[in-house]
Amino acid sequence: MNASPGASARAARLERLFHLLERRILLLDGAMGTRLQRLALDEQDFRGARFLDSDRPQRGNYDILTLTQPQLVAAVHREYLEAGADVIRTNTFLANAPSQSPFGMAHVVHELNLEAARLARSIADAHEEESGRAVFVAGVVGPTDRAVSLTKGTDTADARGVSFDELVRAHADAVRGLVHGGADLILIETVFDAANARAALEAARKVFIELGYELPLAVSLTPCDDDGRIRSGETPGEVWEAIRDAKPLIVGLNCGSSPRALIACVPELARVAEDAFVCVYPSAGLPDAAGNYPATPHDLAEEMRALAARGVINIAGGCCGTTPGHIRALRAALSGEPGGTAMLSSRGACGIRAARGRRCRRDPASDPGSTAGGI
Ligand SMILES: [Zn+2]
Repeated sequence: MNASPGASARAARLERLFHLLERRILLLDGAMGTRLQRLALDEQDFRGARFLDSDRPQRGNYDILTLTQPQLVAAVHREYLEAGADVIRTNTFLANAPSQSPFGMAHVVHELNLEAARLARSIADAHEEESGRAVFVAGVVGPTDRAVSLTKGTDTADARGVSFDELVRAHADAVRGLVHGGADLILIETVFDAANARAALEAARKVFIELGYELPLAVSLTPCDDDGRIRSGETPGEVWEAIRDAKPLIVGLNCGSSPRALIACVPELARVAEDAFVCVYPSAGLPDAAGNYPATPHDLAEEMRALAARGVINIAGGCCGTTPGHIRALRAALSGEPGGTAMLSSRGACGIRAARGRRCRRDPASDPGSTAGGI
């Protein structure tokens, strides 16, 4: 099944990832967008030489920086690895056709994903070489600004709606680039609509069938109220029901209005998603008018330490407004945590078995194109 030259290296990296997940809390990186925002780049910086003649403004298109200012993106990856992150995320939050269309950049979506994954991979490999520490690349599939659930009504065929199939095609283009660029896993993050998450999972499934191998999948929801409901009104339990047949290895929560508000939603998700590893990466709160985020590294680390002590998390990191200082504080706070050893023995075990090829992610009888056992 794995005839491609990179197959054994990929399999070895994944085995190291599973080994670590079974033993300790892994650290994700912090925010990419807010690190780049603080550089106060101007229109010319975003365009670089390549898109000098673009007829649309590019300022604010942080994903295009992978092509026009890759050294800036690389520097952010490096500072998080130096802070202790085990997993870095690609700069691809908006690297999908619906999000790039307003910038006139839908035609470079595949390249944005491919190059962002290659860049993260090269920085991770260099760090691994220097430090001897295993580090991983999560290929990010971000949300689009359009929701599948909005197309259900009769009068919602506006710019905010998108069909399921359209979204599958858009995400498949992105996932293909991420996998070809060397991502170790695919992270579908900031999920605000279960149908959108299902479209991204379906896109990944199609790409894995095309390629003849699978990468582990992670899905992270962004609650927008204290009940943990996402923007579509679904609870974490309802979202899990909608996506569980895709057997994500990791499920989690990210962003939110504060670390405390996000963390309050974790136990319920951990309870329903009993076969998945749990990932939590809160924002540093909501920014003030000057763009300052209220939660300090110490604040975030203390909240996460209390959560870790309950044995419900396997991966911790930061979302909007977090910095290498936040990741360093998390490392100090969580390095001694067992990560809920009792839970780790069963949590995620099903997903790891499937990823190790010992069990099918899907029923092969009902899916002749299944790539089960491909890793
Ligand atoms: Zn965020």
